[in-house]
Amino acid sequence: MVDSGAEPSTLPTGEAIIDSLLTSDVSLGQIVKSFVLECSPDTPVCEAARRMSEMRVSSILVVEADVAIGIWTERDALAVDFTKPDSFLRPVREVMSSPVRTVPADMKLQALAGRFREEQVRHYLVIDADGRRCGVVSQTDVVLNQGIEHYLRLRSVDSVVRGRLQVLPETATLAQMAALMRTSVVDAVVVSYADGAWGILTERDVVRLVARQCGNETVGTLASRPLLTVDQNTSLYRVRTLLTENKLRHIGVVRDDGTLLDIVSFSDILSGMELVYVQELQLALRERDEALNISQRNLHLAEKVIESSLEGIMITDANSTIVSVNPAFTRLTGYSAEEVVGKTPALLSSGRHDKAFYDEMWRQLHENGHWQGEVWNRRKSGEIYPELLTIAAISDRDGKLTHYAALFSDITELKESEERIRHLAYYDALTGLPNRRLLEDRLRVALAHAHRNHRQLALLFIDLDRFKRINDSLGHEVGDQLLITIAQRLRDSVREDDTVARMGGDEFIAVLSDIETPEHAMHIARRLIDILRQPVYVDGHELVVTTSIGMSIYPDDSEDAALLLKNADIAMYRAKDSGRNSFQLYAPAMNARSLEHLALENALHRALEREEFELYFQPLLDAGSARVIAAEALLRWRHPDLGLVPPADFIPLAEETGLIISIGEWVLRSACEQLAQWQRQGHGALRMSVNISARQFHQHDFAAIAGRCAQQAGVNAQQVTLELTESMLMDDALETIRMLGQLHSQGFGIAMDDFGTGYSSLSYLKRFPLDELKIDRVFIRDIERSQEDAAIVSATIGLAHSLGLRVVAEGVETAAQLNYLQRQGCDFVQGFHFSAPVPAAEFEKLL
Ligand code: C2E
Ligand code: CA
Ligand code: CA
Repeated sequence: MVDSGAEPSTLPTGEAIIDSLLTSDVSLGQIVKSFVLECSPDTPVCEAARRMSEMRVSSILVVEADVAIGIWTERDALAVDFTKPDSFLRPVREVMSSPVRTVPADMKLQALAGRFREEQVRHYLVIDADGRRCGVVSQTDVVLNQGIEHYLRLRSVDSVVRGRLQVLPETATLAQMAALMRTSVVDAVVVSYADGAWGILTERDVVRLVARQCGNETVGTLASRPLLTVDQNTSLYRVRTLLTENKLRHIGVVRDDGTLLDIVSFSDILSGMELVYVQELQLALRERDEALNISQRNLHLAEKVIESSLEGIMITDANSTIVSVNPAFTRLTGYSAEEVVGKTPALLSSGRHDKAFYDEMWRQLHENGHWQGEVWNRRKSGEIYPELLTIAAISDRDGKLTHYAALFSDITELKESEERIRHLAYYDALTGLPNRRLLEDRLRVALAHAHRNHRQLALLFIDLDRFKRINDSLGHEVGDQLLITIAQRLRDSVREDDTVARMGGDEFIAVLSDIETPEHAMHIARRLIDILRQPVYVDGHELVVTTSIGMSIYPDDSEDAALLLKNADIAMYRAKDSGRNSFQLYAPAMNARSLEHLALENALHRALEREEFELYFQPLLDAGSARVIAAEALLRWRHPDLGLVPPADFIPLAEETGLIISIGEWVLRSACEQLAQWQRQGHGALRMSVNISARQFHQHDFAAIAGRCAQQAGVNAQQVTLELTESMLMDDALETIRMLGQLHSQGFGIAMDDFGTGYSSLSYLKRFPLDELKIDRVFIRDIERSQEDAAIVSATIGLAHSLGLRVVAEGVETAAQLNYLQRQGCDFVQGFHFSAPVPAAEFEKLL
């Protein structure tokens, strides 16, 4: 007995069965072996049977003059009279079945299964399209090839048992057996042996026996034994597999108690299958009907959805002719259905998109079947509005494009809130001006533009003077109103392409793109100062604000956005230092030019003779003890009309014209004389710092001049420090070293002024005999806010000390700055926190 247990246990779903039933159907041409066993009509029956047995096929085709005139099958073999020996020699023509049933090669296996049942025929000749015989198909082929494994696995063999078991004792004759088969219409009988075993005789055996022409033997000797059996619970799948593996067509089925239930053949499996096939087909059809019902309901639902959708929906045919629109479409566009059906969507076009836009849209539609994007369309009223549009191409079952569906929603509000958010992110809420972020963006763009077109660009750093005082005394409301007015004026004073941004507080930046010359930008800066100086009336207050502007020029000052900003900032502080309500260029040489128009040059020439110059003094203190240890002499020009002119406004011009040489000598002499006087008054240890300009320093006899000044005033050169700037040292290194050496040998102290704004290379400075380093006030200013600046300051102090230099911090304005500097070990401090530069008489009070 064959064990029924070892089977794959995956159970298919009902759906999978239907699938296999409906979709895995193959045509006969695909399964028939392209081999047809043929014989002539005169072939003896035994010969035909021999060939069939040999080829293990169940039929032979009888062909005459290339026409199939009949077929002789295993079933027909039963008709042979085994009792008469000459019946084996009869020509097959006399016993064959005729005519031959044919089926076309493209017939489906499922259809054939039905035919087998209806016509009670077990062999069909398969004919291809050209009428050629391409094979014989039997029930076995159907069972073997139906894609219904799932079904077979699910059912056990006892479900197809037909209860027509025929059993013969082993002693029965062949003739008795053939008679039994014929009368009971079975294709096999079981032979039971006296010892309890079973054998089987089938139609195929009969063919074999016919071939051997055996006559009067008993079935016991002829039967195949033992009978292959399976348990009644074995699945049909297993049974089919066993049958094909053993090249058998029958198998015995035994009950659990071991008795024989029946024998089962391929045709039994097939007939069971047909039934289930029909059932499943009906089920499938029923489900299809239901699906259709559902889809009709869905269609109705879809119509409702389209009807009530808030999104506008427009359906066009393949030629873009509008076929339907929904109520939302009418609401959004203003067009009723009657007005648009039959027209094309072009009537909605706003004209805002170019051909390339639509070309790209169509390309994507064709490529992907859909498109989504923002489109500007025009309502019937003419109003143009933004919509979010989705277009889908719709094709029929064959893939032919039939319609387009366009869904859109009005995104005016979305756009507006987007715009609001964008505005918040990029614009200053108070003044509506671009903020720092947008400025950086615009500056980058403007710089790229200037670079491409070889143009110049000016960056103006605009800072209101004493704004804080207004804010503090009159309140924020007033301050805000003032800022709004100032912002408005600034915006109105520049070209549309230029950017004015608010950087926070009372700081603004203007980017003037495409300027002809730096003078052009200066002209604008001057105009800005004038415009902003006009009184502003807020809440009954008349407010007058003055402005300090620092300017840097691309590409002269830098090509880098961040550096341009920093330089303009530095220039702005210089403008503040020089008395506010003025502007400064970052590059000093240009400041000179800026004053040319004032014809200051002549005035400057006469200033010395007219004794219009004065010296102010600012104290340098010991950072630890806070004692005044030195004074820095700072030049002032008391102009009869302009008042006190700060040095930054005229020193560059003096440099350019060469006047600085005589002016500088006057400063040096006066400072030494003042020092001598204070020393005589008892401040013997006091020192004096004097600023030296580049041109002065580069006089070949400068050392001699300096020495003479000190000597004539009667002061020791060791108590005078000359302040030089970095750039001066870079110009001509050899000559510089020689000059410094000479000054040093005379006893003068040398300080490096404004350290950090130039090359800032400490290692480079090692080559020069320096005594002091003055850290520029731009670094001190931000110590508390900028970690970076704080780090620069402390590193500079450390390095300077390691080079044996004393460090002066300039521009100390607060106690916190002083505190930090003390902690970092800074030697000396100077700044408004202690005192602004003051006339000599006032300075004495500080001593
Ligand atoms: P400097 O040598 O860096 O001079 C220090 C400047 O910083 C002075 O400006 C001073 O008023 C200012 N200052 C001092 N403490 C503070 C502070 O706490 N905060 C701020 N914001 N500023 C402070 P001043 O007097 O307008 O001088 C400007 C520049 O003009 C000087 O910068 C120096 O380069 C030049 N200068 C002044 N006098 C002479 C001179 O006699 N000869 C030459 N060649 N140049 C001079
Ligand atoms: Ca100085
Ligand atoms: Ca300085």
